[in-house]
This record gives sequence, structure tokens and C-alpha cells, in this order.
Amino acid sequence: MGADCLFCRIVAGEIPATIVKETATTLAFRDIGPKAPVHVLIIPKEHYADVATLGQGDPGLAGEVLATAAAVAEDEGLTGDGFRLMFNTGPYGGQEVFHVHAHLLGGAPLGPMLA
Ligand code: IMP
Repeated sequence: MGADCLFCRIVAGEIPATIVKETATTLAFRDIGPKAPVHVLIIPKEHYADVATLGQGDPGLAGEVLATAAAVAEDEGLTGDGFRLMFNTGPYGGQEVFHVHAHLLGGAPLGPMLA
């Protein structure tokens, strides 16, 4: 990927983002249209289209994305009251950016997901 992928361009520093954590393999930055008081996206730097291809293609990297998400949740003070971590996947899952990203949402009660 690269030039056509928005999140690859954020990884490359070509598009600005508010980065909250970076590791050798992952990046976490604030969502541009937050849906909760805390809304951070966590991505692998390497391009995978969605969580299914990441999970099957590189389970270790998928674990690193989760570890970064957990570290950000701690940094943002979310671990006491809890948070939501989710991957929209494919058109029916509401995915709009096809570089896998975990949404970390918290800072207020979010209610049941499937109400
Ligand atoms: P999706 O629907 O799961 O693919 O979520 C894509 C998310 O990316 C949405 O919540 C957008 O608000 C967010 N987003 C789109 N462009 C940017 C950006 O340039 N910086 C940060 N977040 C973005």
C-alpha cells in the first residue's frame, strides 16, 4: 500500500495526526471525529486491510496492536471504569478506512453495543 492509504500516509508522516503512543510496530492517534471523550485509533504500521487479514497473516502483530491499545487505555485513565475496543470490518461492519485499526473508546458510559 502506501500512497493510496490514508493511515499509511499518517505512518509516513505525510498527513498530520495527534499521536498518543508509538512503538516499533504500532501507532496510536486520536480519531479526527471523536465519538466519545476518548477516541483513539490503534494501527499496525504495516498495512493490513482489516483485522481478519491481520489476525491470520500476523497474529503476533495483532497482539502488539492489542498491547498498545491496553497501554493507551491505561495512559488515558480508562482502566478503572472500562472502555470499548472494536474493529469495524468490511462494508457490513461499517469499515471506511481499509488499513486495520482498533477504535479505543471511553471516558463516559457508552451503553450496550447492540441495544
Ligand atoms: P472505520 O469506519 O472503522 O473505518 O473508522 C475510520 C475512522 O477513521 C473514523 O472514526 C474517522 O473519524 C477516522 N479518521 C478518518 N480520517 C482520519 C484522520 O486523518 N485522522 C484521524 N482519524 C481519521
